[in-house]
Amino acid sequence: MSDVTDIERRPARNVARPDTPLISIVAPCYNEADAIAPFVAAVMDIIKAGGARYELVLVDDGSSDDTRMQLSALADRHSEIRVIAFSRNFGKEAALTAGLDYAEGDAVVVMDVDLQDPPELIPDFIEKWRGGYDVVYATRDDRGADTFAKRFTAGGFYRLFNKISAVKIPENTGDYRLMDRRVVETIKTLPERSRFMKGLFAWVGFKSIGVAYARPARTAGETKFNFWRLWNFAIDGIASFSTAPLRVWSYIGSVIALLSVLYASVIIIRTLFTGVDVPGYASLLTFILFFGSVQMISVGILGEYIARLFVEVKGRPIYIVDEVYGGAGAKPPAKAAAE
Ligand code: UDP
Ligand code: MG
Repeated sequence: MSDVTDIERRPARNVARPDTPLISIVAPCYNEADAIAPFVAAVMDIIKAGGARYELVLVDDGSSDDTRMQLSALADRHSEIRVIAFSRNFGKEAALTAGLDYAEGDAVVVMDVDLQDPPELIPDFIEKWRGGYDVVYATRDDRGADTFAKRFTAGGFYRLFNKISAVKIPENTGDYRLMDRRVVETIKTLPERSRFMKGLFAWVGFKSIGVAYARPARTAGETKFNFWRLWNFAIDGIASFSTAPLRVWSYIGSVIALLSVLYASVIIIRTLFTGVDVPGYASLLTFILFFGSVQMISVGILGEYIARLFVEVKGRPIYIVDEVYGGAGAKPPAKAAAE
């Protein structure tokens, strides 16, 4: 299940890691009342196996079920659990951002709470990290648990993304990964509000290696990402990491201009030789509709980028913390304290 894949990119650094490092496990939770108990039990098994010290940073992303109650009860019971509760739902990317801000470990593992990211991989992650890798990510070699539609659209999205973005995301890779402290610190310096985390993880670079696993189905509850959420997520990813959709219009425009000149020459020459030819209603209307739509699409794409500029310029915080339970108490992360 945990064989090393051949996507190792560079040899590991020869670095010294602490003997008993502190490993932070960050998990975003949104309406996960049924999934939390099995998740914490599974992670506690890993923790008990020893070899490292652990802390759990669980982020309640404005859940409307009793996720927060359960989490705060867990924080009371286990000193290694800290809960960051948002004032409303800010989305998974914001929850991950908060988790990284609050985590204090020498290495940070980010994972989903639904056990689709098997905790058994964590010891492998740590071993690779000790071996000198800064990022150890899990790659799905079997997505049998996902629907065909999800595999198909996800595959298409990542192929398109990797074609048009300067930053490449390894295929079949989710957010589940371990990152060294210096990787986390680097990610924390990225100020953008549109946080396509997979892209940001890839953007910062560092020595990375994949660990293959078969992705299981959810333990409890259901997916929080419906079609529209995934569609917007995909557009967000592309608009945050590529300017190709903006630049392509100069080329489309040039090709259409060239074709128009050729077509115009044909019409002019034909008119000179055969006289004025009045019919043309169908072709005229077709051209008007076609060019009207092309222009609207290009304006729409401009709009996508301008909307993002607008959000960035406002500079609102990425998330608002309502309450922090457990661990070091309400101590805010260094970044928030400095503001
Ligand atoms: N999640 C979140 N905020 C949201 C949506 C999801 O924190 O607005 C969390 C969710 O609780 C889970 C993880 O993100 O831990 C992945 O969500 P999900 O399992 O629904 O996604 P899928 O695995 O279907 O892609
Ligand atoms: Mg899931």
